[in-house]
Amino acid sequence: VSAVPLGGNHMSVTAIVGINWGDEGKGRMVDYLSESYEVVVRYQGGNNAGHTVINEFGKFALNLLPSGIFRPGTINILGPGTVIDLEHLCGEIERLQKAGVSISPENLYISDRAMICMPFHRWQDQMEEDRLGAAQYGSTRRGISPVYGDKAMKKTLQMGDLFYPESLHEHLYRLVDWKNALLGSAYHCEAISMEQMQAWLDTYGSVLKPYITDVGQVLREALSCGKNVLMEAQLGALRDLDYGIYPYTSSSSPLAGYAPIGCGLPSIKLDKVVGVVKAYSSCVGAGPFVGELDGAEGDALREAGGEYGAATGRPRRVAYFDLVATKHGIELQGASDIALTKMDVLSHMPSIPVIRAYKVDGKEITRFPATQLLDRAEPVYETLPGWQCEISHIRKFEDLPQAAQDYVLYAERQLGVFIKYVSVGPEREQIIIRG
Ligand code: GDP
Repeated sequence: VSAVPLGGNHMSVTAIVGINWGDEGKGRMVDYLSESYEVVVRYQGGNNAGHTVINEFGKFALNLLPSGIFRPGTINILGPGTVIDLEHLCGEIERLQKAGVSISPENLYISDRAMICMPFHRWQDQMEEDRLGAAQYGSTRRGISPVYGDKAMKKTLQMGDLFYPESLHEHLYRLVDWKNALLGSAYHCEAISMEQMQAWLDTYGSVLKPYITDVGQVLREALSCGKNVLMEAQLGALRDLDYGIYPYTSSSSPLAGYAPIGCGLPSIKLDKVVGVVKAYSSCVGAGPFVGELDGAEGDALREAGGEYGAATGRPRRVAYFDLVATKHGIELQGASDIALTKMDVLSHMPSIPVIRAYKVDGKEITRFPATQLLDRAEPVYETLPGWQCEISHIRKFEDLPQAAQDYVLYAERQLGVFIKYVSVGPEREQIIIRG
């Protein structure tokens, strides 16, 4: 695979983000692009992510580790905007090390400002989803929303607290006391044991301590040496806490605008935003999803695309390519370069419907409406011809069947963007680069 040209030796700060509901294939794009970046940073979210990467080491669903971890010499950073389940991260590091990936404080840095996702955040997430029953959010139940909630309430612990055992103990005592008061009366659960939580922090904290540092300093040094930085998002634009389909959002910001803040370089300007879009739609969890396909049509698309959660194994909800939601996502992200993934998944279809507009209360609209209106929106389809042949081996846009080229060009016209990358398979080299 040839290197991605960045335009001379200028250092470049790029964010790579999801345009839709998440699961767009960001992991494979970061794995591909990271060749040209010496630093890869995760800037939000926690181990609810599942970035799938297939390379010479095998197939991995990365939950917390940045996707640059496989490239020798790449610096990987978990930024201040992330939340970290210590036990989970230790397990993930160990799994990759066993597969032959080298991970050490030389190539992995964890922000001292990242928040610790405690076991009771996970328990709270699970108990709340169970309490809600049929009305649940469809959370990954990994404690992400409770820990971000506690962060906003200024209650939880930062990774840097691990270096100060006395104040950590005091802070933990107050936190456990507060959680017991809240969770005990809300869910009638067993009291959280202070000793158990302290032991958990000691066990996993001691493994991770060598990795914890002021990552802003690491990044500033890297930039001053002319290194290129890639900021890697989790989820997609429609899951943004402020601008997404609230309340069916994540509890953090997957937007490129937040990337510098969540990375540890709050005042840096991005040079480029690579937006990853899937050639059809998928969505995990509850909330409005226009054009959702059920029955045999949905099953066929889900099977063809292997649409099962990388973190949880849950079947994903599927729909045809939603150009209304995608255009909105591109605007929210300010994406300059678009990567269209999973084109090969559509290869079996004789004709391919796309959602070019919504109908709300009898009126056709092409702008993504407020969440409150989404439940009433019906898809308006345009049907494009299929190509019905294998395309995963193709590396040049002109070599794609005409119908596949037309699908991309139609999307470009509707979205008003240039689609620079067309991914035709999950593996590193299964990609077409245009322009
Ligand atoms: P992410 O969270 O955005 O990284 O997305 P996921 O990793 O959850 O989901 C993307 C899935 O699609 C993974 O299983 C990838 O290996 C796979 N994938 C990515 N790009 C392509 C592609 O172009 N074709 C096919 N067939 N699979 C792809």
